[in-house]
Amino acid sequence: MDKYEKVFELAKRRGFLWNSFELYGGSRGFYDYGPLGSTLKRRIEQIWREFYVIQEGHMEIECPTIGIEDVFVASGHVGGFSDPLCECKKCGEAFRADHLVENVMDAAGTLSAEQLTEVIKEKGITCPECGGELNDAYEFNLMFKTTIGPGTGRQGYLRPETAQGMFVDFQRLSRFYRDKLPFGAVQIGKSYRNEIAPRQGVIRLREFTQAECELFVDPRNKKHSNFERFAEKELVLYSQAAQQTGEPIRMTVREAVETGVIAHEVLGYNIALTNEFLTKVGIEPAKLRFRQHLKDEMAHYAIDCWDAEIETDRFGWVEIVGIADRTDYDLKAHARVSKTDLYVYVEYDEPKMVTRFVVKPNMGKLGPLFKGKAKAVADALKQLSEEELSKDQITVTVDGEELPVSSDVVDFAEETVKVSGENVIPHVIEPSYGIDRIFYGTMEHAFDEENVAKKAAESGLKGAEEAEGAEKTEGAEKAEKAEKGPEATKDETEGEGEEETRLVMHFSSSVAPVQVAVLPLLTRKELADPAKEIVAKLREKNLLVNYDDSGTIGRRYRRNDEIGTPYSVTVDYDTLQDGTVTIRDRDSMRQIRAPISGIENVLYELIYRGRNFESAGKPFNF
Ligand SMILES: [Zn+2]
Repeated sequence: MDKYEKVFELAKRRGFLWNSFELYGGSRGFYDYGPLGSTLKRRIEQIWREFYVIQEGHMEIECPTIGIEDVFVASGHVGGFSDPLCECKKCGEAFRADHLVENVMDAAGTLSAEQLTEVIKEKGITCPECGGELNDAYEFNLMFKTTIGPGTGRQGYLRPETAQGMFVDFQRLSRFYRDKLPFGAVQIGKSYRNEIAPRQGVIRLREFTQAECELFVDPRNKKHSNFERFAEKELVLYSQAAQQTGEPIRMTVREAVETGVIAHEVLGYNIALTNEFLTKVGIEPAKLRFRQHLKDEMAHYAIDCWDAEIETDRFGWVEIVGIADRTDYDLKAHARVSKTDLYVYVEYDEPKMVTRFVVKPNMGKLGPLFKGKAKAVADALKQLSEEELSKDQITVTVDGEELPVSSDVVDFAEETVKVSGENVIPHVIEPSYGIDRIFYGTMEHAFDEENVAKKAAESGLKGAEEAEGAEKTEGAEKAEKAEKGPEATKDETEGEGEEETRLVMHFSSSVAPVQVAVLPLLTRKELADPAKEIVAKLREKNLLVNYDDSGTIGRRYRRNDEIGTPYSVTVDYDTLQDGTVTIRDRDSMRQIRAPISGIENVLYELIYRGRNFESAGKPFNF
């Protein structure tokens, strides 16, 4: 079993991820988030909101997941959002043609369908499933099509990205921000891509969650007002140059921007922000790097583009975030298709005096010539460019009618006017996050198999044997067996007796789907009642609590280790004597005794205030 399989086994068993439609045999490219997975994912999204909406002030909007055709004509998705598809003539299986060719040559991703077909024929590549002959490759559009309205209706598509919503709403957003650059808006939601052959679990899904930010900036000023916040932060950059040598470089954000490795401050800031977010939700810093797109993989209009990549056991380095300077490409495309100017009027710091060429229609001559239309002709003349006016024969359009105007009825003059601003089409900086991939990365990087005895020794637990015993708390075993009979004995051998390793999810407290487990030693009322009171107090603090009274204490600890619960609180008979409970730390397996009174504050501080565990109570098993 590789790590991916192990993580998935745990994810399924513990309610993080399930195959969708399992009851009916499933369907590739879809996953259900179970109770714990759903909570973990929401918490990751919530932290993303804290970063982008609360801290950065980029407000969240919510657009339909179905879009009309015009939007995707403008965005280029109707014309060019495709992958090369290749089918087996014998078994009918579908493959990405570029993936088939990848094994025999580099840069397969840059070849056209025709070129791929050539390579497949030349190299005699056959179906990986059955060895059959393959069809010619062709471009397959990845958008899911649908019909809007009854009958023949109107062509619609499930959105392939959330970004278009921010572009389509650009004018409204600009008004909302009082036409002041820079401004940004975000969207978190589902997007859809009809992937040809999704074989990588949650890495490649047909329905997935994106969190995207579109940051509109003045193209002439890509400095960032808060640049100093991350200026000295060191990043692992796999720049274009570094990719030539195969060795990523470490560099501060300031150094990278100053030396031109990263194109400008706004990009540098957003790369550092991404780094901060990813490590906060639990991506291991040692398995995180930022890779710059090579010239031939970058879109022609983009200035610079970086992917956050994480190292995974099975798939190697996987892209989880893209951060790009997309220039004015998207706004210009929507302006063209919608026939609406999309710009922001930017005022100068100081008004400028500008000398310009002005036209002065001679009303004395225009009146007799055009009679009732003279005023309209004069207005139309004022709209013409200098070039059009300098022709001998000038043509104006009035009420759809083209009228010739001879140049001798127009006088020209130069005048100096005060100009206080100009229209600017903003550039777009886009950080685009794949939430499902981040979710998987968080799971894989949190996953650990630990040798219990070794860990107990590291944590200084009182002797390996004792440590295990202490985990069950003294006298607990006997009492449990007495109460539960043979069931408990079976639990014991499965849960503790033969156990040498434990599975642990080292989730950070900020994303863990359960933050505190409350465990009454026995299901008896005298222990269950105070345990339930503790649960109520913790929930009042908004903590995510799991009340768990089934199985031995040892098994319950293991179960909570597997779902990544940072702290467990055990109520035992000593609790009834002295009003204290045991708090166990997941990672060190150390236990302390702390009073029930105020326990909710202690746990809140441990979880959110970084309080030192050993300071929170009296050492118990170390
Ligand atoms: Zn085949």
